[in-house]
Amino acid sequence: MSNDVLVIAEIRDGTPKKISFEMIGEGKGIAEQLGGAVAAVVLGQGIAHAAQPLAQHGADTVYLAEDPGLADYTAEGYTNVLANLVTETDPALVLIGATIQGKDLAPRLAARLGVGLASDCTGFELRDGELLITRPIYAGKAIATVKESTRPYMATVRPNIFAPPEADISHVASVEKIPADPGDLRAKVIDLIRQAGERIELTEADIVVSGGRGLKDPKNFALIEELARVLGAAVGASRATVDAGWKDHSYQVGQTGKVVTPTLYIACGISGAIQHLAGMKTSKYIIAINKDPDAPIFKVADYGIVADLFKAVPVLTEEFKKMKAEA
Ligand SMILES: Cc1cc2nc3c(=O)[nH]c(=O)nc-3n(C[C@H](O)[C@H](O)[C@H](O)COP(=O)(O)OP(=O)(O)OC[C@H]3O[C@@H](n4cnc5c(N)ncnc54)[C@H](O)[C@@H]3O)c2cc1C
Repeated sequence: MSNDVLVIAEIRDGTPKKISFEMIGEGKGIAEQLGGAVAAVVLGQGIAHAAQPLAQHGADTVYLAEDPGLADYTAEGYTNVLANLVTETDPALVLIGATIQGKDLAPRLAARLGVGLASDCTGFELRDGELLITRPIYAGKAIATVKESTRPYMATVRPNIFAPPEADISHVASVEKIPADPGDLRAKVIDLIRQAGERIELTEADIVVSGGRGLKDPKNFALIEELARVLGAAVGASRATVDAGWKDHSYQVGQTGKVVTPTLYIACGISGAIQHLAGMKTSKYIIAINKDPDAPIFKVADYGIVADLFKAVPVLTEEFKKMKAEA
């Protein structure tokens, strides 16, 4: 087994997603302690240009797997290529983003390689040569430290937990083409239908503004959207509003929705049920706006505004607009 760390980079529209850089930064720290290097692998078609940003963020080697059959992500095709690469290079640790794609890919790859998988991890520590991995459990109520008994170690990494390294344009990586046969795919992507309008991806957003049942009516989400627009934030929603059909499931934050870790999370008219907290509790700062001073959301909030959101949110929006105009 080598002492290297392999990062499975995630690419969207030809560009590596921020989680790829976050994993390279964290992976490099671990690799240095092990006396190894950090490598990233990119799969797709016509994506050779993605090697440069990965190198500038610290990858020592970038493996390129290019094939028309990899142009669209499929768990089967990616697993076929990655299982060969992992077997060939024998890294100490494989990191995959705990994103929608990564959560689909990682268990299949782990099963193919016959190794364990720690999912949605938020910390890594090498102690006496063993890798100790931390991950939230019981909907974020407790933090477990796990040790995998198989090698390579494999983990999915929660986005926005680790700071991405600064890009260093002088850092170059050795770029190696690798065999990229996705094999006979039993399922193929026929079409990708994107939602109209560009939306900031919830799981990657630095600021999230979420609305709950306190909004009373779906049209009142306009208040949340306006505040989000001014802040350059993503919009989130509680399950109560999703179940009511006010927003589609892609907006849902929580145990059965998305896990977000922004720098700032603003919860408006959300009670703070444990299942909602599971999706946002690890945000760096939490602001809650709720008219009920006993709402559980205030237990996790750094700043609480006990107020009617219909009065408080427009005031906040106006104040942020003024601050932006003065900046
Ligand atoms: C298995 C399971 C999985 C679940 N997964 C999720 C999940 O992923 N995500 C999730 O969110 N939930 C999830 N839930 C549901 C969860 O238990 C709650 O029911 C839900 O989060 C409540 O949404 P809410 O806070 O918007 O609504 P409510 O609990 O009804 O809270 C509305 C809040 O708005 C406040 N309010 C009302 N009017 C105003 C006003 N004018 N101004 C300010 N505040 C006001 C009220 O004081 C109240 O606190 C799950 C439940 C189960 C059982």
